[in-house]
Amino acid sequence: MPLAIIPPMPYKVAVLPGDGIGPEVIDEAVKVLKASGSEIEFEHGLLGGSAYDEVGTPLPAETVETCHDADAVLMGAVGGPKWDKIEPASMRPEIGGLLAIRRELGLYANIRPAKTLRPLIHASPLKEGRNMMDLVVVRELTGGIYFGEPRHRAADGSRAVDSCVYTRAEIERITLRAFEIARKRRSFVTHVDKANVLETSRLWREVVDELSTKNPDISVHHMLVDNCAMQLIRDPGQFDVILTENMFGDILSDEASMITGSLGLLPSASLGEPKSGRVFGLYEPVHGSAPDIAGQGKANPLAAILSAAMMLRFSFGEEEQADRIECAVESALSEGLRTADIFEAHTRLVSTSEMGDAIVAKMV
Ligand code: NAD
Repeated sequence: MPLAIIPPMPYKVAVLPGDGIGPEVIDEAVKVLKASGSEIEFEHGLLGGSAYDEVGTPLPAETVETCHDADAVLMGAVGGPKWDKIEPASMRPEIGGLLAIRRELGLYANIRPAKTLRPLIHASPLKEGRNMMDLVVVRELTGGIYFGEPRHRAADGSRAVDSCVYTRAEIERITLRAFEIARKRRSFVTHVDKANVLETSRLWREVVDELSTKNPDISVHHMLVDNCAMQLIRDPGQFDVILTENMFGDILSDEASMITGSLGLLPSASLGEPKSGRVFGLYEPVHGSAPDIAGQGKANPLAAILSAAMMLRFSFGEEEQADRIECAVESALSEGLRTADIFEAHTRLVSTSEMGDAIVAKMV
């Protein structure tokens, strides 16, 4: 990721813990950031169901302001059964909180690395030897069917409409972002679509092909999404960068994450256009609010901690500190520390905060 301008220290980080296990995992990520040696000022904001309960909206104006004032945002997760039936639906945590903040901050590029970690090779549901993977999903985040208009339901409930809409400009900017990322890796981009059926996919192909011709150092090929879902299970090692639209990226990145062993391991960055030359981003674990384990100290904080490492690397250029965190994570796992989701025989079960403490201890 080219880092044009690094903000001055102390870095200002907006912290949005959200709902369910969000606050638990974010506490650990903040603990790790505090131990990283970077000077950071944290400002907390409300988001999601907890914000709705407290102030009647899942995305309060103060939260948006806090994010705009910050150099980067660290987010937990939102949602839960308590808020699933709120009407109008635009007040629900996922739509009025999560999707709204992404759009409000112009975060169109969702970057989700998924890598098999050696100490967790047995946690993968795929056979050993078939599960080595090191890929990045670059998902378009503010277009497509999650945002397209019209969307509505017939008054009698008999029919519903969602629209998938993409513009050439939206496809161009995410494709160039994917090429930038690929350039720092193995320079191999798999563009995933459903061009045998969808018009938007055919536009994606056209634009990706045009940009591919102008960027001959990147090797690009196209794959249909159904084939990609299958190829990820058959041979996940074949992928370097997967470039795709919003909904396909949502689904494929969860699939890829599971190959690593748990959803609780996968970090993500959502980036917009550089802000005054700076890389502004929102960093969050890929997982949701996991209401089934919330409040029990069972959540795996590693996805949130690795998201904090991505923040140090992408937004603050703190390569060395990011490496330290990532090495501390591998080291804690190599020593056999495990939260419940990745626990196996002959390993040591630890709670969310014990895992956070162990990472901090390994960073010195
Ligand atoms: P989920 O990711 O919350 O949970 C799926 C499964 O993975 C659950 O069994 C959960 O216990 C487990 N899990 C997830 N994260 C874990 C972690 N860190 N450690 C250990 N186990 C973990 O997905 P879901 O159950 O489909 O959704 C729950 C709620 O989260 C819903 O309201 C959904 O809309 C919301 N959601 C929010 C986001 C977000 O905020 N970015 C993303 C996905 C889902």
